Amino acid sequence: MRTTAIRPSIRKCASVSSARSSSGSRRCPRARHLGGYASLYTITDDWHPIVGPEPGLEGYYAFFGGSGHGFKLGPPIGEALADVICGEAADIDISPFRPGRFIDGEPLTSAWGEGNRG
Ligand SMILES: Cc1cc2nc3c(=O)[nH]c(=O)nc-3n(C[C@H](O)[C@H](O)[C@H](O)COP(=O)(O)OP(=O)(O)OC[C@H]3O[C@@H](n4cnc5c(N)ncnc54)[C@H](O)[C@@H]3O)c2cc1C
Repeated sequence: MRTTAIRPSIRKCASVSSARSSSGSRRCPRARHLGGYASLYTITDDWHPIVGPEPGLEGYYAFFGGSGHGFKLGPPIGEALADVICGEAADIDISPFRPGRFIDGEPLTSAWGEGNRG
C-alpha cells in the first residue's frame, strides 16, 4: 500500500493519537511512541471490490476498491480474473463484482447488511 501521499495533517493526527494511547497507558507506563503511519481504505459504494472487464474499454480489466478486504480476497479473485482474461472458465463466478453493477442497480449485499463483514 502506498502511504507517502497522506496529507501531513492526517499523519500528524494519527501519530498524536497513537502516542497518547501508548504513553498514557497504565499497563505500559514506560512505553514510548516510536512512529507510525496511516493509510486510506479504497471503499466502493457497496464495500466490495470492482472486478472484471470494463465495458467500452476493450482489453482493460479492473480489480480495485478492496474496501478493507482486498488482501484476503486477492488470491481467489486474482486467479479467477486471470482465467477470465485468458478466456477460460473460472472456478468461481466473479461477475457479481463487475464494474457495471452500480449502473445496473445490482450492488452486492451481505447477510449482515451493508459493509464488508458478510
Ligand atoms: C489500514 C488498512 C487495513 C487493511 N486491512 C485489511 C485486512 O485486514 N484484510 C484485508 O483483506 N485487507 C485489508 N486492507 C485492504 C488491502 O490492504 C487492500 O485491499 C489491498 O492492499 C489492495 O491491493 P492492491 O494490490 O489492489 O493495491 P495496493 O496494495 O494499494 O497496491 C497498489 C500499488 O500500486 C502502486 N502504484 C500506485 N500508483 C502507481 C503508479 N502510477 N505507478 C506505479 N505504481 C503505482 C502503489 O504504490 C502500490 O504499491 C486494509 C487496507 C488498509 C488501508
